[in-house]
Amino acid sequence: MHQELAGDLARLPELLDGARRYATEVLSGLADRPVVAAAEPPEPAPLPERGTGADGALAQFRDRWAPGFSASAGPRYLGAVTGGATPASLTGDWLTSTFDQNVVTDLDSAAAALERESVGWLRELFGVRSHEGAFVSGATMSNFVGLAIAREWVGERLGVSVAQDGVAALGNVPVLSGSPHSSVYKALSMLGMGRGCMREVPTLAGREAVDVDLLAAELAALDGRPAIVVANAGTVNTVDFDDLRAIAELRRRFPFWLHVDAAFGGFAALSPRHAELVAGLDEADSVCADLHKWLNVPYDSAVQFTRRRDLQTRVFRNAAAYLSPITEEPDFVHLTPENSRRLRALPAWFTLAAYGRQGHREIVERDIALARELGDRIAGMPHLRLLAPVRLNVVCFTLADDPATERVGALARSVAGSGEAFLTPTVYKGTPGLRAAFSNWRTTGADVGRIAAALRAG
Ligand SMILES: *Cc1c(COP(=O)(O)O)cnc(C)c1O
Repeated sequence: MHQELAGDLARLPELLDGARRYATEVLSGLADRPVVAAAEPPEPAPLPERGTGADGALAQFRDRWAPGFSASAGPRYLGAVTGGATPASLTGDWLTSTFDQNVVTDLDSAAAALERESVGWLRELFGVRSHEGAFVSGATMSNFVGLAIAREWVGERLGVSVAQDGVAALGNVPVLSGSPHSSVYKALSMLGMGRGCMREVPTLAGREAVDVDLLAAELAALDGRPAIVVANAGTVNTVDFDDLRAIAELRRRFPFWLHVDAAFGGFAALSPRHAELVAGLDEADSVCADLHKWLNVPYDSAVQFTRRRDLQTRVFRNAAAYLSPITEEPDFVHLTPENSRRLRALPAWFTLAAYGRQGHREIVERDIALARELGDRIAGMPHLRLLAPVRLNVVCFTLADDPATERVGALARSVAGSGEAFLTPTVYKGTPGLRAAFSNWRTTGADVGRIAAALRAG
C-alpha cells in the first residue's frame, strides 16, 4: 500500500475527527461569514506526485480553496432557489459516503429498500399517493426522466417505441406549457425532441400561470394528435401555479401526457394554508420535485414520480446478464439515466426521520412568512417596487425608477459586496428585476432585517 494511504488507514479515526472539527468550525461561522466570497480562486496547481495524506489535503483545501467558497448553505443566500442542509440531512450525507452503497439492485443490500421507503415518505409528503418514484440528481434530471416517459407514451399512442426505434419514428411532438423552466428546454434537447417543439401558451393577465382556455384551444387544434403538457407548480420568478385540476380535467377531451414541474412549489403541499395551490398534483402522469431546494438536503437530490413504470423501464432498462430481470418492483438501474447510483435517499430519509412532516412544515411556513415580511418591507421602500405579489417564498422586485439592467445589476452587486445577502437578477415580463428566494432552514426574522438594511443601503 502506498505510504500515505497506509498512514491514513492507520490514523482514520483522527482524520475523521479532524474533518468533523473543521466542519463544525465552518458551520458555526456560516451565518456570519460573507454570503458571497470575496477571495479569487487560486491558480490551478500541478498534479501532486506523492501526495500529502488526508491531513495535508485538508490543510491545503482550507488555505487555498475554502476562502473562495460562498455561504450558500447559510441563511441569507437568496439566489436561485437554494436550500441548506439540515443537521440530520448532513449526518445522512456523511453516512452515504461512509457506507458507499451502489443502489443498482437488491441483490446485495437493503439500500434500495431504504430508497423505496424514502420515496414512500415523499409521496405522502407531496400527496402523490398513486405514483412510484426514484431519486435523481436534481429537478433537471427529474424533468428529463418525466419527459422521457412522456415521449414513450406518445410513441405508444402512435404505435411506435421510441426506446427501440429512436425519435425519428415519432416525428414532431407538440409540447405545451405556460411558463416552462429553462431546464425543460434542456431536457427536450437531450431527448432529441428539440427545444423547438415547445409551444409556449399565453398566461393569464399579469400572471405566470397558463391560461387554461387557450391551452384547451391549442390542444383542440391538434386534432387528436397526442401531446405533452408541462404544467408548472411554482415558477421561479413569482412562484405562480397553473390550475392543475383544470388542466388534468382537459385529458377527458384531449390526449396528452401531463408532466408537472413542482421542483420547489410542490412544498406548498406541506402547509395546509397553501396546499390548495398544488391541488390536483396527484392527477399528473409524472411529477418533478427537487429536494436540495426546500427539503434542505445537500446537493444533489431530487425525486421523480410517475404512474407508468412500464414505460419508464422501456426507456431506462439496462439488460445485462449480471443484473436481475425487470419485475413488478424493478431495480433502480432500470428506472433512471444512471447505472451506478449513490444512495442519495439517505440524507432525505434522515431529515424526514428526524423532523417529520411537522418539522418540514415549520421550515416551509417560516420561509413563506419571511418572504412576505421582506415583501412588505420592500413595498415600504421608496426606491424599490414589487413586480408581483409575494405568493409563496420568492420576492420579485425592481427599482422604482428606471429599472435598467445595469442599474438593477449594480444593486445586486452592491448587496453581494456588502457580504450580507445574495440575490439573483431576473427579467420578469420584460422588466429587469431581482429575486430573493427563501428556502433555507436557518433563516430568521433577524436575517430579513439584515437583508432589508442591505437593500436600503444599496
Ligand atoms: C430549480 C428548478 C429546476 C431545475 O432544478 P435543478 O435541481 O437545478 O436541476 C427545474 N424547475 C424548476 C421550477 C426549478 O425551480
